[in-house]
Amino acid sequence: MENSRITVTSPLLPNLDEFYGLLKQIWNSKWITNNGSFHKQLEKELAEYLKVPFVSLFTNGTLPLLTALQAMRITGEVITTPYSFVATTHSIWWNGCKPVFVDVDPATGNMDPEKIEAAITPRTTAIMPVHVYGQPCDTKRIKEIADRYGLKVIYDAAHAFGVQVNGESVLNEGDMSTLSFHATKVYNTIEGGAMVMHDEATKKRIDYLKNFGFAGETTVVGPGINSKVDEMRAAYGILNLRQVDAAIEARHQVAVRYREALRNVEGVTFFDDIEGVKHNYAYFPIFIDEAKYGMSRDDLYVKMKSVGVLGRRYFYPLISEFSTYRGLESANPENLPNAHKMANSVICLPMHHQLSDDDVSRILELVVKK
Ligand SMILES: *Cc1c(COP(=O)(O)O)cnc(C)c1O
Repeated sequence: MENSRITVTSPLLPNLDEFYGLLKQIWNSKWITNNGSFHKQLEKELAEYLKVPFVSLFTNGTLPLLTALQAMRITGEVITTPYSFVATTHSIWWNGCKPVFVDVDPATGNMDPEKIEAAITPRTTAIMPVHVYGQPCDTKRIKEIADRYGLKVIYDAAHAFGVQVNGESVLNEGDMSTLSFHATKVYNTIEGGAMVMHDEATKKRIDYLKNFGFAGETTVVGPGINSKVDEMRAAYGILNLRQVDAAIEARHQVAVRYREALRNVEGVTFFDDIEGVKHNYAYFPIFIDEAKYGMSRDDLYVKMKSVGVLGRRYFYPLISEFSTYRGLESANPENLPNAHKMANSVICLPMHHQLSDDDVSRILELVVKK
């Protein structure tokens, strides 16, 4: 077992026989896409599970970001975080808007609300924060600022599946939130995603927009896109929803062991659970202080990789460092010191529902003993 690979994640897969049973139903019905019965069922079950009023399924987690900005006619500048997956900023760019980066709070990795006001200009129309690693943003403070300046808030909640604050879903915050159901996420439909909204009228409008803008056979209400989820993936999603709680609990147990072992390792820091928050244990990032740890982040990363333990440097490089964005004034590293520090010190340790006790021991041995 010594040299078997441990990947950073492993997809949650439904039972194949059960999936086959649902596929048979689809074959019999001959209704394979366009708001079929499994599609409707999954939207309903997800809304209940997530404790949100309305869910609209999408084919991935990027298209709901693009569509949210379109639906609210966002123009000009959008304030966002560089410490995320590139799709966050790409969605702003694809809408012809200018991303404006603000620094993060090292305590959470999320956009620092106290840096937002200084980034607002007369062209600012929206804020797009990310609940990075599933850590809830300071949604109250962000709402205060957005309300004061008349800005929309779209949360990229790709990491925040099932996350609650004081019993309330974090997905209910902002004007809209988006989810990714990619294979690497806590809950997956192979490829997939969703948008969460507050009212039925918005749900209707979003459902039109993800179907080319069609509001009837002959009516197109706007320049829509195609992001319709097929019945196969909806059925897969229905089965996975039934086992996601157990998967999150298995992740929780891994996090408990990681924290116990790493708490007293000098030069290694990580996030603890936050009181009142129901976490989803989507990722387990650790941050290496080279001077105290006695080894650089990259050396540790390579050492792990050399024995088949595949950590990932999420999120390095920062989005603001990619060629498309690094020319922006707000991408200047001096504007983003905390984000740079995190990006240069992070490794996400393997985290998924099937890590065995032996796997966790093998990973910890590498990190604890230098
Ligand atoms: C995964 C992810 C996305 C994109 O989701 P896809 O389903 O891969 O399109 C967007 N934002 C963040 C923060 C992500 O992690």
